[in-house]
Amino acid sequence: MALFSKAAVLNGIEGEFTIEEYKVPEPKRGEFILRTEAAGVCGTDVHIYYGHLNTVEYPTIMGHEFCGIIEKLGADVTEDSNGRPVKEGDRVVIVPGVSCNECYYCKILKTPTRCANIRAYGFMPNDENNRLSGGFGQYVHIQYQGTSFFKTELDPHIAVLTEPLSICIHGFQRAGGVRFGSTVLVQGTGAIGLGAIAFAKRSGAAKVIAVGGPKRRLQLAREMGADIVIDIEDVRDPAERIKLVKSETKGGRGPDMVVECTGFPSSVPEGLAYLRDSGSYVELGHFTDVGSAEINPHWHMLRNNADIHGVWGSDVEHMEMTLNILERMELPYEKLVTHQLALDRVEDAILAMSKKAYKLDDKEEIIKATIDPWEALAKGTVVKDKYSLA
Ligand SMILES: [Zn+2]
Ligand SMILES: [Zn+2]
Repeated sequence: MALFSKAAVLNGIEGEFTIEEYKVPEPKRGEFILRTEAAGVCGTDVHIYYGHLNTVEYPTIMGHEFCGIIEKLGADVTEDSNGRPVKEGDRVVIVPGVSCNECYYCKILKTPTRCANIRAYGFMPNDENNRLSGGFGQYVHIQYQGTSFFKTELDPHIAVLTEPLSICIHGFQRAGGVRFGSTVLVQGTGAIGLGAIAFAKRSGAAKVIAVGGPKRRLQLAREMGADIVIDIEDVRDPAERIKLVKSETKGGRGPDMVVECTGFPSSVPEGLAYLRDSGSYVELGHFTDVGSAEINPHWHMLRNNADIHGVWGSDVEHMEMTLNILERMELPYEKLVTHQLALDRVEDAILAMSKKAYKLDDKEEIIKATIDPWEALAKGTVVKDKYSLA
């Protein structure tokens, strides 16, 4: 029986989302059809909506943080990326980025996150070559050869945190890891910031300081392992915050590592000023271009002997490590998912997140909203067969 998939399609920059229905193709060799159970709405989706990510072409089906059930396996798909056998009915988490294995970065440098020809679910135009390639749809066509995926029994609305939180693991790895007994400061208490707090503590940091807000998130920051929380609403002057942070470290030296997860450019000079001499600064917050900040190269970089790392995305190994940690459920990761929404509420989530108010339906602020594409549509209009269905 032919399957049909409703999907939320964005038609252009600051455009309209329509719910469209497509015929699900038969999976070819090496492919499979995934029945989406959950897809996270990410800050990056907000930027795609506003056209800040110049590699995206519209119309597009977003949703790069997703997991679901294998509906139909194509030929030769027998095991997941851990070598565990897979069958129809298994739940899997998909690694959104698929590198080419042929370019300079893949083949010679062996750094597939830097692949020059990367394709990624949730970032492709919804055209005849990439139809149904995003998680904001009932089915996803797992169509790029070499797609990595992992079997899991985790609750799907937690499993979708694998991708965003894997950025934190990649960041720590780039900085040579968290030193045992060190002090780590995390700027920002969104989903990635909260993940960085959790993972820093689990990696052996003796003290984790969180600078962020609002209050509810800071409470969660404590639950994730922050020892000290600083509310930017309470301490509004950056110079005061720098003083306060320094006073929380022995000898007033400053934290050994600072992880930037706010996505506000002004956080960068402030975070560099927190850092102890020769400490590591890890930049995870600026996945898209939201402007510049003024850095004093003498004081922020050389004089402090700062070790600065820009971190772009993550790779299969970081996803695998993150999933292993989440599956242990040793922390209340489910609290990061504050909203579960129907497919026709992608736009509402994006607009709420873009206003930085993060409030939706007068409920609490969004930390992570997930889409359940099988939940009854709130508004109900569906455009059928928009493209010819071969
Ligand atoms: Zn994301
Ligand atoms: Zn490549």
